[in-house]
Amino acid sequence: MPISGTEPFAKADSALPLIDPFGRSISYLRVSVTDRCDFRCVYCMSEDMTFLPKADLLTLEELDRLCSAFVDRGVRKLRLTGGEPLVRRGIMTLVASLSRHLRSGALDELTLTTNGSQLAKYAQELAGHGVKRINVSMDTLDPDKFRAITRWGDLGKVLTGIDAAQAAGLKVKINVVALKGENEDEIPALVEWAHGRGMDLTLIEVMPLGDVGEGRLDQYLPLSLVRARLSERFTLTELDHRTGGPARYVRVAETGGKIGFITPLTHNFCESCNRVRLTCTGTLYMCLGQEDAADLRRPLRASESNDLVLAAIDDAIAHKPKGHDFIIDRRHQRPALSRHMSVTGG
Ligand code: SAM
Ligand code: SF4
Repeated sequence: MPISGTEPFAKADSALPLIDPFGRSISYLRVSVTDRCDFRCVYCMSEDMTFLPKADLLTLEELDRLCSAFVDRGVRKLRLTGGEPLVRRGIMTLVASLSRHLRSGALDELTLTTNGSQLAKYAQELAGHGVKRINVSMDTLDPDKFRAITRWGDLGKVLTGIDAAQAAGLKVKINVVALKGENEDEIPALVEWAHGRGMDLTLIEVMPLGDVGEGRLDQYLPLSLVRARLSERFTLTELDHRTGGPARYVRVAETGGKIGFITPLTHNFCESCNRVRLTCTGTLYMCLGQEDAADLRRPLRASESNDLVLAAIDDAIAHKPKGHDFIIDRRHQRPALSRHMSVTGG
C-alpha cells in the first residue's frame, strides 16, 4: 500500500485516546531511531546494507516531538530500537528529554531494545533517566558463533554491557532468534545462563523481512519444535502473562525464570495488538507484517503546532489493518516484505 499523507488534514481532538477500527487501544509506540547498526546479523541485514542518507533522518528534536504527540494521545509505553539505538549520535539527549513524560506520569515505561555493544558506556545514564528494563539481543554464548551470526560482533563487549546494565539496576531480558543449525543446540544452555543471572529470555522465530542475501528457509526453525525439545529437559508451565504483543510465556520450574516465544509465522497475535511503529524518517507502520504506512514527517515539518501531525496520526490509526499474513515464499525464497527489521525496529 502506498504511503498516505498527501490528503489535507482535519483537526484532531488531542484529548481522545487512539482506538483503531477494531477497537484496539494503541498504547505502545516502538521507535526506530536509526537504521544503522554496528553489527550485520545474518537474519536482519545483508553484509553490504545501504543505509539512509543522514539528511533523511528526523532530528532528535523531531523524534521527541513525534513521540510526545503520541504520548499526548495516550501512548503509555515507548520503546527505542533500530538499527542499533545506541549508535545514534546524541541518543542520550533524546532519552533525557523523553524521560520528562515518565516524571509527569504520562508515560509508564521508556525502554529500549539493543544489541548491547554500547551498554557499558550508557547503562548508568539510561538508569539515571528512569529506564527500568531493557531487552538485549544475543543469540549465542560462543564468541566464534557470535562473530559469525553478527558478521563481526564482539561477544565479550556485549557481556560486559549486560554486566554494566545489571550493575546499574536495569532489568535485562535476553532476545534470542532461533536459527536452524546455528544456535538450536545451545538454546537450553542460553536459558540456564539467562535465568541463572535473573534474566528472562524470549525466543524469536525468524521473520521474512527484507532481503538478507541468504535463503530464509535455511534459517527458519519453528519454535513449536524448540518448545517441544525444551519441554523434554525442563518443566514448562504456561503463563497467562500477555503483553498485547506476539509473545507467549512459560515458567521454567527448574530455574524459576520465564521463557517467551514470539511466533509470528505459526500463531496469530493480532487481535490484541496495541502497538504501532515509527521509523527514523517519520514513517508510521501500523503493522509489522503489512505495508500500510503513513508519512508523519510532512505534517510534522509543515507546522510548528502539533495539529497537523495529530490529525495524521488519527488518520493512520483509522487505517490500522486487522492483522498480517506472513508467509515465506517457498518457491522463490523471497521475503514476504521487502523492508528490513532494522527499518521498523522489530
Ligand atoms: N539492534 C537492536 C537489537 O538487535 O536488539 C535493536 C533492533 S533489532 C532489529 C530488534 C530485534 O529484532 C532483535 O532482537 C533482533 O534479533 C530481531 N530481528 C531482526 N531481524 C529479524 C528477523 N528477520 N526475524 C526475527 N527477528 C529479527
Ligand atoms: Fe543490528 Fe539488531 Fe539487526 Fe543485529 S538484529 S543487525 S544488532 S539491528
